[in-house]
Amino acid sequence: MSQAVAAEGTRVGVLAIQGAVDKHFAMLERLGVRGVRVLGKEDLAGLRGLIIPGGESTTISKGLDRLGLFEPIRAFARAGGRILGTCAGAILLARECENHPVPTLELLDVRAVRNAYGTQVDSFVAQADPGAAANLEGMGCVFIRAPQIADPGPEVEVLLRVDGLPVLVRQGRILASTFHPELADDPRLHALMLGL
Ligand code: GLN
Repeated sequence: MSQAVAAEGTRVGVLAIQGAVDKHFAMLERLGVRGVRVLGKEDLAGLRGLIIPGGESTTISKGLDRLGLFEPIRAFARAGGRILGTCAGAILLARECENHPVPTLELLDVRAVRNAYGTQVDSFVAQADPGAAANLEGMGCVFIRAPQIADPGPEVEVLLRVDGLPVLVRQGRILASTFHPELADDPRLHALMLGL
């Protein structure tokens, strides 16, 4: 049963270089929205939003370069396109990243620290701290070799925290989560992106 949150015909792109592309499509479908694979500049035309999935930011960054997508995605954001970056996707949105830095899109005024939870606890599920942004209360967050978000600039709003650390931030129409919302049975973050 889909819960429509966007006008009929709305399409959202998922960068398809690497990562859980199909899981994001499934979430979008639950919300009555068609997912489109993005592998070139022409795929961005007419999209309401773009999802940059998790995976390895080194690989995705190289792919963005190879496909010539750095500038077109920046232009998409400047034109008001919504972007949700999850895990490696969040790293790629950051203004800078540390711990084996990779070239990023520099669309979000934060520093991403790669693999910041270390190898001991490289995957875990945690519930967001109380006091989350209104409609995200109690969200379950799946972390896989997750980054941490540091030094958010003045235009960055922290929407969710786990153990006091930011795990979901927003700057205008850019959303970045250090966890994988497509792996939990909860489409609220995808719905939030569509509504921005
Ligand atoms: N550790 C990965 C990186 O630094 C991100 C992991 C993920 O996206 N699940 O790119």
